[in-house]
Order: sequence, then C-alpha cells, then structure tokens
Amino acid sequence: MVWSERQRRMLQEMGIRLWAPVAADAVADPSPTAAPAPAPAPANVRLSPAPAAPGAAAASQQAESNDDPGDDPGRAAAIAQLAWAPLREAVAACTACGLCKERRQTVFGVGHPSAHWMIVGEAPGEQEDRLGEPFVGPAGQLLDNMLRALRLTRADAPAAQQVYIANTLKCRPPRNRNPEPLEMARCEPFLQRQIELVRPRLILAMGRFAVQALLRSDQPIGKLRGQVHRYQGVPLVVTYHPAYLLRNPADKARSWDDLLLAAQVADEASQAAATAANVKLA
Ligand code: SF4
Repeated sequence: MVWSERQRRMLQEMGIRLWAPVAADAVADPSPTAAPAPAPAPANVRLSPAPAAPGAAAASQQAESNDDPGDDPGRAAAIAQLAWAPLREAVAACTACGLCKERRQTVFGVGHPSAHWMIVGEAPGEQEDRLGEPFVGPAGQLLDNMLRALRLTRADAPAAQQVYIANTLKCRPPRNRNPEPLEMARCEPFLQRQIELVRPRLILAMGRFAVQALLRSDQPIGKLRGQVHRYQGVPLVVTYHPAYLLRNPADKARSWDDLLLAAQVADEASQAAATAANVKLA
C-alpha cells in the first residue's frame, strides 16, 4: 500500500512505523530520536460553574462503601436530569462507592460540550487524580498525537475539531487496580449523562473497561474492534487504550486502522446531519 503524504504525516504523529513500500526518505524513522515531540500541555477546558442545584446533591449521595449495597433507584433518574454544571457538582461530591475515600479529586471530563467526537477512557491514574484531567502523562500525549493525526484536539476549537474526553470511572482506583463491577455500576449514570449532554456523532471507546461499560461485553478488544457498534443510537468504535499501546507498540498499526474507521463513520454522520439540516431548510 502506498501512503499519501498526508497519511504519512498522520502516522508519524502517532509514532507508527511504516511498513509500506514508500520512498526511503519518506519512511518514518522509528528511532527514539525521531519520535514526535510531546504535545504542548492541552488547554484545560472547563465548563462554566453554576450555583448548586437540588438534583446534584441527590445524585451524589449514596453509600460510601462497596460493601453497602445502598442502591437508590432514584439516583440514576436524578443524574439523568442534570445539566452540565450540577452534573459536575454531583460528581465532585459523590460518595457512591468506596473509591471516594482515597481520591485526591474527581476527574470529570474536558472538551467541547457539543463535540462531534467523544473519547471514553477507563479510570483516572495517579497523574489524572493529581491534576483532575483525563488522559495526562505519556498516555495522554499519545492520545493527543492520535487526535492530531485526525485533525482533532482537546484544546479550544469548534465542535467538529474539539473532542470531549471522559473516563468511565471518575475516581482513581487505589494503586491503579482494576475497577470492581459495583464501582463501575455506580459511576455509570454520570458517563451516561455526559454522553446524553454531548450527543456526539461518534464515540471512541478506549480500553477494556470503557468497552465493558458501554457495550456490556466481556469480549476482548481484539474481537470487538474493526466494526461499528452502537451506544444508545450513537455509532461507537472500539480501540486499544493509549497506555496499552505504550506497552504494546506493535498494536499501534491496528489502532490506526480503528481511527480511520472512526473518522469514516464520523464523516458519514456529519454528512447525514448536513443533509438533514438542508432538508429542514428546504
Ligand atoms: Fe462516585 Fe464514581 Fe467516584 Fe465512585 S468512582 S465515588 S461512583 S464519582
């Protein structure tokens, strides 16, 4: 396969080595010295704060222990009614599972509130817990490179270019252990509401726990990638988590294929939205 100049630039941004028979001087140098420079620190995009809303308090109160079922059937319904500011407030005050005890802070999400692309990761790590933003550190830099390859960004930009990024869990599991099912279940209404508010044209689910939460599937990423799924009607593409790719660089090429599929689906969704808008105007 012969890569176009644009595709070669995109692959270089992701640090993907080219195996295709392209001209020698056009092949990305896989040596560490040729790796793309780390992306500049992303703009810390925040939604504007608002006064406390009654629903926020109701949504954040719950059992503080994973041993206490404390299920409140009204909690998910309350969260489903929240606008952005009270939703953020509810997450910040949430004690619905035991993860609240060891967190430094919750990690809500960043990006355009009406982004066309929504990126869903897994759970905050040490740096995210410290900084309050998802996907920071080396995995975040790789994600930024992947986004840049698609002409997307987490920094301030129009909805078609600026993504929205959220994790499945809003609090860091101690010592980065795997999330427990009950923790994921109690946190899920927050992510659901974020997706409802953003109403993205495409969801990119990165990593096993994001996929489990959104697709209710225990199948490995390798079995689920390469096809278009749906989450509440929104097209969803599955790919590897950037932290996994840092440990398994050979899978970056597969991840690139996933990004191309996601870009194609997002383009089709945008064309359909434009056609529908034109029909309305006619
Ligand atoms: Fe609440 Fe989610 Fe944090 Fe658990 S992980 S305390 S459900 S915000």
